Amino acid sequence: MRWRGIDAAISEAIHLPRAEIVDLIDEFEHLVFLGCDQSGPLFALDVSTHEDDALQSCLSGREFIDLRDVAWRLDAQDAAQLAYARGLVFWNRHHRYCGLCGSPTRSEYGGHMRRCTDSSCARMHFPRTDPAVIMLIEDRSSPDRPRCLLARNSRFPNRMMSTLAGFVDPLESLEETVARESFEECGIRVDRIEYQASQPWPFPSSIMLGFRARALNLDIVVDGAEIDEAHWFEAGQLREFGEWGDGGDYYCLPRRDSIARYLVDSWMQQVPGI
Ligand SMILES: [Zn+2]
Repeated sequence: MRWRGIDAAISEAIHLPRAEIVDLIDEFEHLVFLGCDQSGPLFALDVSTHEDDALQSCLSGREFIDLRDVAWRLDAQDAAQLAYARGLVFWNRHHRYCGLCGSPTRSEYGGHMRRCTDSSCARMHFPRTDPAVIMLIEDRSSPDRPRCLLARNSRFPNRMMSTLAGFVDPLESLEETVARESFEECGIRVDRIEYQASQPWPFPSSIMLGFRARALNLDIVVDGAEIDEAHWFEAGQLREFGEWGDGGDYYCLPRRDSIARYLVDSWMQQVPGI
């Protein structure tokens, strides 16, 4: 049995053998089975309720880092495995009680299902994913000078500009969400909404569904709540942007491991440069 963590010094995912963390495994409820690789079975352990002292003695000077901050520095396999672990641990931690009758639930199938402990209920609960859309909106009113809409969310670090995004409401189609969020956040009506790609996003339990859409009006009206500023940019302007995390006081593109960046990069490759 091994456990996944991150070595702080080199930002490389590491495995810890069971013998090194045996003192932390006080409840098997906190274990999640991730699968097997060439070395054997792999588990994730939720240590969020452990005392710091107990953790430090097991970690031997290593420390925890938020996956969101280092995922882009890991290789794709490690990043995917840690994201999978994070998503399952988060789901188990937040579903300890039955949503139907309120009784405690119990982990089964290695943390991939939880069952209500009240035998008269016994409801099974499975991990869920919350869909969200993310969209690059194009201005094609001038065919030789296409532009795209990028915005700065009030939660973004420094001056990162990104595509619009939002969660899917109940009984809403993905295309309806794209249209609603575009209008709510920036006052832009859209059509020709076309699916591009998707990305699981375990912060905490979403999947981002990427679209491209055509703007029907160009006057931007930011909502002033989620969005602080938004502008139309030509591809040539975007090529002058900085990189996420470089600390400059100028506009920068989304991080390279994000679907937002994929949407922007693929758009830039398809439109004329300046
Ligand atoms: Zn129940």
